Amino acid sequence: MQIKLNFLGAAENVTGSRHLLEANGRRILVDCGLYQERQFRARNWDPFPMPADSIDAVLLTHAHLDHCGLLPKLVREGFGGRIYCTAATSEIAKIILLDSASLQEEDAEFKRRRHERQGRKGPYPEVPLYTTDDAKACFPLFAPVKYRESVNLGDGVEATFYDAGHILGSSIIRAKVRQTDEERIIIFSGDMGRPDRPIVCDPTVFDEADYVIIESTYGDRVHKGPKDTKEMIGEVINSTKKAGGNIIVPSFALERAQEVLYYINELLLEDAIPHLMVFLDSPMATSITKVFQRHSELFDEEMTEFVRHNESPFNFPELKTVATTEESKAINHIKGTVMVIAGSGMCTGGRVKHHLVNNITKPESTIMFVGYQAIGTLGRGIVDGAKKVRILGRKYPVKARVVRIHGFSAHADREELYKWLTELKKPPRCLFVVHGESESARSFGDYVREKTGWEVTVPAYQDEVVLD
Ligand SMILES: [Zn+2]
Repeated sequence: MQIKLNFLGAAENVTGSRHLLEANGRRILVDCGLYQERQFRARNWDPFPMPADSIDAVLLTHAHLDHCGLLPKLVREGFGGRIYCTAATSEIAKIILLDSASLQEEDAEFKRRRHERQGRKGPYPEVPLYTTDDAKACFPLFAPVKYRESVNLGDGVEATFYDAGHILGSSIIRAKVRQTDEERIIIFSGDMGRPDRPIVCDPTVFDEADYVIIESTYGDRVHKGPKDTKEMIGEVINSTKKAGGNIIVPSFALERAQEVLYYINELLLEDAIPHLMVFLDSPMATSITKVFQRHSELFDEEMTEFVRHNESPFNFPELKTVATTEESKAINHIKGTVMVIAGSGMCTGGRVKHHLVNNITKPESTIMFVGYQAIGTLGRGIVDGAKKVRILGRKYPVKARVVRIHGFSAHADREELYKWLTELKKPPRCLFVVHGESESARSFGDYVREKTGWEVTVPAYQDEVVLD
């Protein structure tokens, strides 16, 4: 067999997912993600390691930016093939890519003005990594596929998408390569979800594979029980209502906002919380929620049941979606407790900043964090217990109650990843551990090797391996 795998990203780090599969003269790229860690961001500017027009097709596992965020640049560099993914992934990816492009444009403009003021030149060019037009140029290339229907990529190479249970439309991709009378199965886990999460189905399991490329974001830890996530949210709402303040929820627009709504809907149906107004104050989260509503065929059993009984978490009577900034500002004049879910998830921008300004100095209000807060962000400062924070150019004392809700992780932990692998009836020829910080990837690799004796590799950036 002559199959080559090139690890062009998410190798000993968690973002910039890109794996190149070369077989039978076909070049197939699995994911084309943006690097988001500060120390690797310069790689976003590097030209693609081989001519972009020599790539025959892209297989996209899901719509997170670290998996799809470099597609506009690949297309600008000459890629003109199809981008295969589920319909939900293509619809969400379009929203995500447009948002990313406008952030790139704003960033470049901001940098240009700052450098002009300071009379100096920065390390990166003052042009956007890609523009809104570059993002739009990808759209006609999206080729939606259904789960479990195989896609013929030509010359004996095919791919099939299976539900990964990570975010709506997310996929595990199973590639099959045939050469004369032999064939090999290569499974790309993409980002792997967890069993029993709201809205999405559980990750698909497989009983055979010759090679597995597995993520390891949380390959070195075991999640704390997520069971009380809903109870914690209920407690926050009830105690804040009693105190007479508001609940501000900085949230990512994709999946997390919809999950928060899911839990609130459940709490309302159980009469465990009062009937307070809930504002989804994020145009992007609203657009993405519409994609969720269009793809109810992807929901798990419980969610399907809600929809069947007209109890959807996306249109309960207390939920109001906020479109304009005027409407957003008007929320501050409402008397009594309200809940506001707004972006950005780490409070680095977006409407949540205005809601923080209006609530962070009030001891009766609660800032409820539901996602990861990276070092250096306003959100991280608040969860780390800063006494004062700077928001929109002014300093404010932090008087509001700050709460972190755990149990929202969309990534499988060590035990869940291991259990998924052990569904294989016989050992793969090799397991490649990717998409994890070096320590996490190595720790997971060692764990699997010790328990099973399998051949396990943690590839480094740009490593190339030949599969036999
Ligand atoms: Zn992801």
